[in-house]
Amino acid sequence: MFDTVLIANRGEIALRIQRACRGLGLRTVAVHSQADQDAVYVRQADQALCIGPAAPGRSYLNQAAILFAAQVSGAQAIHPGYGFLSENAGFADRVEQAGLTFIGPSAACIRTMGDKVAAKRAMREAGVPCVPGPDTALPDDPGAVRAVARDIGYPVIVKAAGGGGGRGMRVVHGEAELLDALSLTREEARRAFGNPEVYIEKFLLHPRHVEIQVLADSHGNALWLGSRDCSLQRRHQKVIEEAPAPGIDIALIRAVGERCAQACRQIGYCGVGTFEFLFEDGAFYFIEMNTRLQVEHPVTEMTTGIDIVQQQLRVARGERLAITQADIECRGHALECRINAENPDTFAPSPGLIGEWVLPGGYGVRVDTHVGAGYRVPPYYDSMIAKLIVHGATRDDALVRLRVALEEMRVGGIATNLPLHRQIVQDAGFAAGGVDIHHLERWLQQRKEP
Ligand code: ADP
Repeated sequence: MFDTVLIANRGEIALRIQRACRGLGLRTVAVHSQADQDAVYVRQADQALCIGPAAPGRSYLNQAAILFAAQVSGAQAIHPGYGFLSENAGFADRVEQAGLTFIGPSAACIRTMGDKVAAKRAMREAGVPCVPGPDTALPDDPGAVRAVARDIGYPVIVKAAGGGGGRGMRVVHGEAELLDALSLTREEARRAFGNPEVYIEKFLLHPRHVEIQVLADSHGNALWLGSRDCSLQRRHQKVIEEAPAPGIDIALIRAVGERCAQACRQIGYCGVGTFEFLFEDGAFYFIEMNTRLQVEHPVTEMTTGIDIVQQQLRVARGERLAITQADIECRGHALECRINAENPDTFAPSPGLIGEWVLPGGYGVRVDTHVGAGYRVPPYYDSMIAKLIVHGATRDDALVRLRVALEEMRVGGIATNLPLHRQIVQDAGFAAGGVDIHHLERWLQQRKEP
């Protein structure tokens, strides 16, 4: 049982976690780089410690510095947020070895799910539907590789078992390209992820990205908290997310959700997590599991009324889940826009000093942000500066609320992607719901060619 939490992250999520801790009466320790010393969550923390210079490798990724900060501050638990060390099994191990609580699943679960081949095998064993293709790494023998691809049928996608962040993947349209794609991906995987293992699966042509949020305690209880649709992506980066995934038969979502919860029980998962699927022609295909809190968790909070971060802290403290699956109800619809400090046309990051800062508000509007007027967006980190989240009784209601909120929001001094969001929410395809993962890129392409 811990009463002091060290938050090993920055930005909006550091503030989000701090608020959840305070709501539960927990003390917070903020660790920060020199670039973040004036951040609001640093000022509000019970204790704040500078752990290094701006470069993430020397601060937010510096495991020894973070563990030392926990020791000197008396924190008994570490919340890794998302990104940085959140899916680093070695770090989770070190936290536990130091006698502290890692707020997340066990290192073993992180390790299994971090290896996409092992994850796929575990999920298939738990009865979760996967993308067609073997759940083993590819053999070396070229003849055997060709046979595997032929068996799946082209197009196929070659993926690195240790891949992440949209890297280490190659689409192959025919046998002539197969072996070259394989050796390129293997080489890239060896260099970028330190693991040369690759696998192949069917390449789906027009899927949607649909995911299931799960929550599990250490007493064998696991719940699924509904679906999210994150198909609106650019370069595999999510831009707008929503809950629930529109237009999918609720009985089908429930069946998949139950499988995910069952898989959690089977692998002894504890904490929050997300099962990511591709959804095409009425069927779900598992692609990977994220063993951490996600950026888009608020849309699930708005539709279920559950504070996911507080629940995450509770189960990490060893509490038994007080909610049951029957208590979970999806009410209305929620949408989230990621507001980035970037040029809305070129997507180049635009760090700098924020002048005007006007936030939208009113019924059903939530903004998760750590910035304000006079804040200087540092150039060293992810460009997301705020998340605008709206809730409505229906998807159409939520969309109207989102359009109004986007018009109301003003950010001066730096460029942001607000103009892009204002345009996307007027797009008829997006407004209709259920677009595939290529929709935004197609839309951007058309915008370029008037
Ligand atoms: P990462 O861990 O790098 O995010 P994922 O396995 O989640 O990798 O895949 C990232 C994205 O790549 C997916 O959201 C989807 O757009 C695309 N993708 C991955 N696998 C397939 C597939 N089998 N068919 C079609 N698209 C895929």
